[in-house]
Amino acid sequence: MTDSQISTRAAAPAYSVPQERKIVTAVPGPKSQALQARRLEVVSAGVSSALPVFIERANGAILVDVDGNQFIDFGAGIGVTTIGHTDARVVAAATEQLGDVIHTLFTVTPYEEYVRVAELLAEHTPGNWAKKSVLVNSGAEAVENGVKIARKHTGRRAVAVLDHAYHGRTNLTMAMNYKAMPYGTGFGPFAGDVYHAPSSYPYRDGLSGVDAAARTIAYLEKVVGASDLACLVVEPIQGEGGFMVPADGFLPTLQAWCTAQGVVMIADEIQSGFARTGRYFASEHFGWEPDLVLSAKGIAGGLPLAAVTGRAEIMDAAHAGGLGGTFGGNPVACAAAIAVFESIEEHDLLAEGRRIEAALLAGLERLAQRYDVIGEIRGKGAMIAIELVQPGTGATTKAPNPEAVSQLVASAAQQGVLFLSAGTYGNVLRFLPSLAMSDALIDDGLRVLDDGLAALG
Ligand SMILES: *Cc1c(COP(=O)(O)O)cnc(C)c1O
Repeated sequence: MTDSQISTRAAAPAYSVPQERKIVTAVPGPKSQALQARRLEVVSAGVSSALPVFIERANGAILVDVDGNQFIDFGAGIGVTTIGHTDARVVAAATEQLGDVIHTLFTVTPYEEYVRVAELLAEHTPGNWAKKSVLVNSGAEAVENGVKIARKHTGRRAVAVLDHAYHGRTNLTMAMNYKAMPYGTGFGPFAGDVYHAPSSYPYRDGLSGVDAAARTIAYLEKVVGASDLACLVVEPIQGEGGFMVPADGFLPTLQAWCTAQGVVMIADEIQSGFARTGRYFASEHFGWEPDLVLSAKGIAGGLPLAAVTGRAEIMDAAHAGGLGGTFGGNPVACAAAIAVFESIEEHDLLAEGRRIEAALLAGLERLAQRYDVIGEIRGKGAMIAIELVQPGTGATTKAPNPEAVSQLVASAAQQGVLFLSAGTYGNVLRFLPSLAMSDALIDDGLRVLDDGLAALG
């Protein structure tokens, strides 16, 4: 038994659902199929589901559907239930808060939970300086507010993002995404003054971090001009784009340029933050201390909450009444977020992220030795991906293989394992398990992946 297997979570589970996969019907089963028929009548076709099995319960790392099938969840609601589904501490905190106060609107009459979340964010986001926060409802809304604040602070108009970025589905954030389909196509016109600069994608560009940053900076200086640039918004590890880990030096070099030019550099940590990568925030892996940090997904154990946190002098640029929103910083969501912070500390969940990284990387490296469709394994903590390429061509052409990803996702679902795809080219299989996932479940999931890879032929 390795050290990682005797970690606290693995040794003392207290789960209401047995942590194992179990398939008892076809996938989707008859009850899911009936619900899907109802859903197609009344839910917009614009809202699609990766796997139309209807979930009745979820606990730890397991989803239970209405037909009694149990899935090992390598998606965690796209990195939201990072500390585990229906985490006992989150449930208790939210339940207690429901009985105390559900809503007042912080901009009418405040409450302590909002302040406490802002204190914890100030403490745990990178950078040792005075910080302030605003709480909102969704990741996209955090991006919108980060841009608003940066524009007010700088008095400048332009917004820059990187190739392969994903920032949301509101009008401004649609303009900030790399991929038109499915996020933007047909939904324009889009917000103006958004510029897409080259990123760092070591597997495909082969550039050092410093060289990639020089290319980004050259683009920004030539196409935008630093004096008009309010902010540069960057995911430290790109999420929907395919878990690209930038080359070392890329992010700090960009931050140094932004600081020198008076540009606000914003870390979109919506997918990578909150103990997802074995650190509180992924920026820490790269020695990056952003001016502003955006949090959402994992922040409140599954309840909707998001935040912009950063340098106090930037955050205070917004005038009174300029920030807010009816549901932003809801007391129940805030109580859940406080519980998430407490769980991370009490159960040393940053170490759980490192345990999961070790287990996933070891297993995936064994698979990569046998299957040359695996072009690259990358990521940090519980945010790991494989990029799939055409067999036999990997080393040279790296031709994307989205068909293999679709087949692997589909075959795993039949076996009770939920994998998510990602990537600009649709050829990335991503692993975003909750930190509650045991090594045994990871091994089981990878056995199913092995079967799927073998079946690709
Ligand atoms: C999910 C995501 C968003 C958008 O968050 P929503 O809560 O869906 O609006 C923005 N940025 C990144 C990096 C994300 O992963």
